[in-house]
Amino acid sequence: MKPIELGRMRIHKVHEMDSPVPLLSQLPGTTEADMRRLLEWYDQPDEVNPDPETSFMTFSVHSWVIELDGRRILIDTCCGNHKNRSLPEVSQLDTDYLGNLRRAGFAPEDIDLVMCTHLHFDHVGWNTRLDNGKWLPTFANAKYLFGKRDFDYFQANPEGEELHHEALLDSIVPVMEAGQAELVDENHVAHREIHDGVWLEPAFGHSPGCCTITAEADGPPALFWGDVIHHPVQLIRHDLKFAFDMDGAMASATRVRTMQRAADEELLCFPAHFRRTSAGHVKRDGDAFRYEWIEG
Ligand SMILES: [Zn+2]
Repeated sequence: MKPIELGRMRIHKVHEMDSPVPLLSQLPGTTEADMRRLLEWYDQPDEVNPDPETSFMTFSVHSWVIELDGRRILIDTCCGNHKNRSLPEVSQLDTDYLGNLRRAGFAPEDIDLVMCTHLHFDHVGWNTRLDNGKWLPTFANAKYLFGKRDFDYFQANPEGEELHHEALLDSIVPVMEAGQAELVDENHVAHREIHDGVWLEPAFGHSPGCCTITAEADGPPALFWGDVIHHPVQLIRHDLKFAFDMDGAMASATRVRTMQRAADEELLCFPAHFRRTSAGHVKRDGDAFRYEWIEG
């Protein structure tokens, strides 16, 4: 996919993998009526059909790289290779993510700043790589920003969050030990000049400190919404609790607020798990919303 230009920013997608799982295992409560409405604008026959029982949800796992005045900002770092995970589907992966990064034009040492929308295992994995049995920062020249609220929560290893605690130990702590990490609050501004900015905003619910990232530089803003919305059917049913949402009601309220803002401000959106180009626009559609992907 060719990079997307927004003002002085060039935004690149770096793919790690596609991961299909039964739709109802992730979004229980989805109905045939929801699927029929979705199929009006989301025709993806290998994934969705009118029957939610036989439909899939295919996670695209990818990062975004923003190039801005020679600076390279990497947003969300996918699952990573060779990591032991209590979820078998994502344990001991061996993908060509770094090859895809290179094909997008970047060596790991080119990355200046790593930002994670939240600290779930599929957003922090490539923060580190295995080197002679040790986890070392993959992006040797980068500063990494981690949300303090998520860090405190997953560090405490609360019941049911073991998967993300595992990720904290091998993908966050080694970066901190290397002196490359900064714990930040949910309103952190990573970059600000006249007409330019890259900043976090709170989008709590999916995780305790989940954030969106907005970026702009002399042009329309880009909204990186992370895991606020996982699948297009949630534009129709914002109340559907996603399996990994920590607080379903809070996540749903955040989803509605984000969709309203994206639609009303005509923001170009960069979801963490949508397929195709992933990037697109949220449109109002009667009592719900729909999504229009940009061509890639
Ligand atoms: Zn995710």
